[in-house]
Amino acid sequence: MKKRIGLLYGGKSAEHEVSLSTACAVTGALNFEEYEVYPIFITLDGEWRRGKRLVKPASTIEELQFGDDAIILENNITNFLIDDNGKAVQFDVIFPLLHGTNGEDGTVQGLLEVLNLPYVGNGVLASSAGMDKVIMKQLFEIAGLPQVPYMYFIRSEWANEQEAILARCEKTLTWPMFVKPANLGSSVGISKASNREELTKAIEVALQFDRKIVVEQGIVAREIELGVLGNDFPEVSVPGEIKPMTDFYDYDSKYKDGSTVLIIPAELSTEVVADLTDYAKRAFKILDGSGLVRADFFVTANNEVYINEVNTMPGFTPVSMYPLLWQHTNVNYPELINRLIELAIERYEGKQ
Ligand code: ATP
Ligand code: MG
Ligand code: MG
Ligand code: MG
Repeated sequence: MKKRIGLLYGGKSAEHEVSLSTACAVTGALNFEEYEVYPIFITLDGEWRRGKRLVKPASTIEELQFGDDAIILENNITNFLIDDNGKAVQFDVIFPLLHGTNGEDGTVQGLLEVLNLPYVGNGVLASSAGMDKVIMKQLFEIAGLPQVPYMYFIRSEWANEQEAILARCEKTLTWPMFVKPANLGSSVGISKASNREELTKAIEVALQFDRKIVVEQGIVAREIELGVLGNDFPEVSVPGEIKPMTDFYDYDSKYKDGSTVLIIPAELSTEVVADLTDYAKRAFKILDGSGLVRADFFVTANNEVYINEVNTMPGFTPVSMYPLLWQHTNVNYPELINRLIELAIERYEGKQ
């Protein structure tokens, strides 16, 4: 029997459009002989819609937004389990292709747990811990992973003791510093600050996106990323390097100007690759990851390695780093998708 797969995409997130392109690409890679594909679209406003079962790959993102054909899943999120004829469907697996808040942060994963449905990717704990850069850093510290110095505070502390916070940054970190909202991705709300005035401004910007702020020591380094794939026995891909043509890998260089160069595999010594591979695995383990993560690192000219972060639902179009890393590790895009679905079912069945 064909496996019934619910593709969950869109979402109330800054990465809504990216998610739609990903969903389009995934329908192109799924074998329709093997799967019944049910599209579930979350609008930018957060409304859930079910479209008719797909009988072939979607050719445009508009097709995946259904227009008037949508079955609107108002008030009752669980009714996405209803098929085109109004009958209850038991999905074999849900594939969340969502980034950022309400998708990558454990909330949707929690919903799927409550509904007792297998789903692709990380569980509640790994997703939420991976979304919060402070919690993630604290876990990395426990795992003994090297990181750049940082500090953090919350909005109300900033309101009451701005001077003290600025002084603490200047005392513990050196310029430039990177200011980040703790719970975001795609570089949204991130700025580089080279003096106290810029730091204050950067903090105000980041506070528009989150109540928790991280200030990190800026580092001059190459940016290297690795893919992790698996459950209890994860495998690690070859490393890839990102060369943004902008000052840093900001939102525009990720999605807009297309000028960023990806080099796969990255040119690195065997020793550095061994360290990166080991750190990527340890990061996955300490988060209790499942399915996939992309681990992002800095490597300096003296070959010092620092972990920057992991992403529990990394960019997943065929031209995104994570699938490209696996392609260069001999797992092509359709195989990668099949493998992730198998891992989801394996995990659900308690096998690993
Ligand atoms: P994504 O989830 O899309 O990978 P993100 O929003 O979680 O991104 P980071 O990866 O933490 O953000 O940072 C975005 C970019 O900012 C990095 O890829 C790098 O170019 C730059 N950057 C971040 N922190 C530092 C740092 N400490 N020193 C130098 N550059 C940094
Ligand atoms: Mg990130
Ligand atoms: Mg991200
Ligand atoms: Mg990153």
